[in-house]
Amino acid sequence: MTSLSNCPCCNGSSFEPFISCKDYTVSQETFQIVSCKSCSFKFTNPRPSEDKIGDFYKSESYISHSNTSKGLISKLYKAVRNYTLKGKLNLISKHSKKGNLLDYGCGTGMFLSVARGSTWNVFGIEPDPGARDFAMNENKITRVYPDVKTALANLKDVEFNCITLWHVLEHVMDLNETLSWFNTKLNSGGALIIAVPNYMSYDAQTYKEFWAAYDVPRHLYHFDEKTMVEVVQKAGFKYVESLPMKFDSYYVSMLSEKYKTGKVNYVSAFFTGLRSNLRAKQGKDYSSVIYVFKKP
Ligand SMILES: [Zn+2]
Repeated sequence: MTSLSNCPCCNGSSFEPFISCKDYTVSQETFQIVSCKSCSFKFTNPRPSEDKIGDFYKSESYISHSNTSKGLISKLYKAVRNYTLKGKLNLISKHSKKGNLLDYGCGTGMFLSVARGSTWNVFGIEPDPGARDFAMNENKITRVYPDVKTALANLKDVEFNCITLWHVLEHVMDLNETLSWFNTKLNSGGALIIAVPNYMSYDAQTYKEFWAAYDVPRHLYHFDEKTMVEVVQKAGFKYVESLPMKFDSYYVSMLSEKYKTGKVNYVSAFFTGLRSNLRAKQGKDYSSVIYVFKKP
């Protein structure tokens, strides 16, 4: 395990306990999330060290990286994913000129496959070998690299019009270094689009330590609008807007029900998800939020 002694957001060194959560999908171990006393940024601390974090991704039920369709949750996840892919494509087209697109943490390459069909020139980075193989062999995404270093070596002269991270930034070990790298690789005026869970949402407040999107220790950071904007602006970006991901509240509520009670109460999960979206309308606190930034 590694303990961060400085806040990744403001560099402060004084933290207080925020919540303790169990890893329900892989290790069944408990991890602490702390809150920075200066800026209120929430992060998992201590966290597994870089050479051990891979062990916490070894699970068949970690479905964002696999394509198996077992059980109602997985089926629903896939159906919704196909619908939301189209929304993501519309969003990048709204904020960026067509050209080079990098999907950082591209998983099995579903989004890149859809974007390529709409004439984007697509690139991916994906550390998981299984997901990367699927992206390359099944989705025929030829330029998928395991890490930034390999991408850099292969993409020396490539600049991107758009970089996307769909539920990925919360997993990134080197948060500030990675954001700075995006800044060097984006065109001026290019878009950086980041989707993450939001612990301020109604579903998070309802399920508390059972909220599935804490997903410790894989989720290293737990963003709200304030800390997201602070962290990304620090790397030289300008905040443009945020948008809801309205399906996530249902999916996350279903998983959270399962963690809390041992089984999925679909009715209860549905109404928590619905209530989360209805309450969020007054504020911005949807279960998951997409943040749009531009490189000036
Ligand atoms: Zn801080």
